[in-house]
Amino acid sequence: MQKENLIIIGAGPAGLTAALYAARANLNPLVIVGNQAGGQIAITNEVENFPGFDSILGPDLTDKMKAQAEKFGARFEYDEVTEVKFSAGQPLYVKTYGEEYEARGVIIATGASARRLGVPGEAEFIGKGVSYCATCDGFFFKGKDVLVVGGGDSALQEGIFLTKFANRVRVVHRRGELRAGELLTERARKNEKIQFVMDTVLDAIEGPGKVQAVQARNVKTGQKERWATDGVFVFVGHFPNTELFKGQLAMDEQNFLLVDKYMQTSVPGVYAAGEVMDPIYKQAVSSSGQGCQAAISVERYLDALPDSK
Ligand code: NAP
Repeated sequence: MQKENLIIIGAGPAGLTAALYAARANLNPLVIVGNQAGGQIAITNEVENFPGFDSILGPDLTDKMKAQAEKFGARFEYDEVTEVKFSAGQPLYVKTYGEEYEARGVIIATGASARRLGVPGEAEFIGKGVSYCATCDGFFFKGKDVLVVGGGDSALQEGIFLTKFANRVRVVHRRGELRAGELLTERARKNEKIQFVMDTVLDAIEGPGKVQAVQARNVKTGQKERWATDGVFVFVGHFPNTELFKGQLAMDEQNFLLVDKYMQTSVPGVYAAGEVMDPIYKQAVSSSGQGCQAAISVERYLDALPDSK
């Protein structure tokens, strides 16, 4: 059993900022990176709303955050947490594929994952035309026709990015009004390769072999149509990555971790930051801010533990 002072689970903006602050406070944090180094922002293309950077690529931003945390002594383990035991209190137990740990403090920054549509054909054609990441897969759609499902900022931002490759990008949204902010909406509307199909849902994604068509339905008129297409990019929101903590930490009805104003979860010594506990703001910069708060709180908690005296 490896003994650690502070384990940070997750390495997106929340985990990396927590690592920076914790390292600078001499807490000697160990970051367990998980299956997506850098978190969601590392698979987005251009970030234009992180203060201090006019425009920076998502992976470059998180590389910089990681290097900054490392400079002050944060350690990174490329492994995944498979089990935790928090209910018994100190020490906090964390297990990964490769190691078992006892920690005095834990910050959970496991973020959120892309929600699926849940329609027939979606799971079957992942990697064969169905994608949740334009930055990762856009290149494969050079000169092709693609659909983007969703009406939020992600759908429009990624849809605009896809126009670098695809000939036509149809944004399919289930309502008559977009959820996305004005800036992205205006940019998307000005883009000649983007078409909007409102009040419409996909009932099925069809092959054979790879995505070749979809069954679309207008929710107002009930009219159904079959459209030929080469790809379906799904951006319909996210769910918090809290499966590991079920039954151990308090969550809301959507499975976001509940925290107090100090970012502490229902178990003393276990803190949470970023999209795993934030159903509202979900920005790289707000996640970073929450990571900072969690690190400052855990420092105070660790200082007050009897074995620190
Ligand atoms: P989001 O804001 O939750 O939008 C999800 C979209 O998917 C909504 O338009 C929603 O429709 C639609 N949707 C949900 N379930 C669906 C279903 N089953 N079938 C069809 N459509 C469905 O998620 P997001 O766009 O990923 O954004 C998440 C957060 O990140 C937001 O706070 C956003 O502002 C932020 N973000 C910001 C930027 C930026 O500033 N550049 C870029 C990306 C993301 P309804 O509208 O009808 O609910």
